[in-house]
Amino acid sequence: MCVGCRQRAEITELVRVVAQKCDDTTGLVVDPAKTMPGRGAWLHARAECISVATRRRAFAAALRTPGLTADPEDLAEQLGVITH
Ligand SMILES: [Zn+2]
Repeated sequence: MCVGCRQRAEITELVRVVAQKCDDTTGLVVDPAKTMPGRGAWLHARAECISVATRRRAFAAALRTPGLTADPEDLAEQLGVITH
């Protein structure tokens, strides 16, 4: 299921992101091979889904990481999605 639009989708249609701690903050990193350890969140590589998931704090919930900093622009850049 996509954490943005919450629609069911095949794994091949979704991208996986995981929480990654860097210094004092925990951010999101895209897992292109879908093999990184730990909990993953799945979403469409679409601007709308990134935006909705970020606003709802869906990443923090899906990854069980309350202090997670989800930067939609950074995520869009990692996914090669145009947000503007
Ligand atoms: Zn979606």
